[in-house]
Amino acid sequence: MTAIEVHQVKLGIANAYIIRQKGTILVDTGDPGNEKTILDAAKNLGIAPRDIRLILLTHGHGDHAGSARRLREMTGAKVAVHRDDAEKLRYGNQGKLRATCLTGRCLGIFFSRGKTARYPPLDPDILIGDFLDLRPYGVDGTVMPTPGHTPGSVSVFLADGNVIVGDLIFPSIPSEKPGLPFWADDIDAVKRSIAIIRERRPRAVYTGHGGPFSGEEIENIG
Ligand SMILES: [Zn+2]
Ligand SMILES: [Zn+2]
Repeated sequence: MTAIEVHQVKLGIANAYIIRQKGTILVDTGDPGNEKTILDAAKNLGIAPRDIRLILLTHGHGDHAGSARRLREMTGAKVAVHRDDAEKLRYGNQGKLRATCLTGRCLGIFFSRGKTARYPPLDPDILIGDFLDLRPYGVDGTVMPTPGHTPGSVSVFLADGNVIVGDLIFPSIPSEKPGLPFWADDIDAVKRSIAIIRERRPRAVYTGHGGPFSGEEIENIG
């Protein structure tokens, strides 16, 4: 198997990921206005905008879907999101954040307003249900639902055992150790989804903020 490259692109607060194997896909797009940073990172890897075959959104929050519309225009790639978060994209509105802890309540004041709450709306091209096979896009992996942070949150399970989990797992403040997300629509679903990730015994766990973490590091969450 050709090695699967995972390149973390650090944006303002969130991460995007450029995944390259036989083809290239982009996972998440950051806030509105992050398109140039992402395409510059791709360019540094020798990847042209037209090489990006798919834009996969782990969920519909503005710090992940914010630049999706611009990047779709600039790359011609299709945008995929789980059907349960599609409505957020269509309205360009991430909706209300439900805090799971004091940190979430405090930071939520910042994240619910301003530019991350609203973003350029777009009609997604691909609605994910039970799974999405990434092989047609040149990457040996599968996207599967890992709900809880939002109803339509998904993770990318790569064939080499590594996983990209979006905001299912958050770096704690101030320890930066992996923990539960500061916001979740359904915290019990988050815990069930983290258990699914653990069962896979991944080597590397790539998160929407901070990270990556090792499989051992996520053993004790929740
Ligand atoms: Zn989120
Ligand atoms: Zn986020």
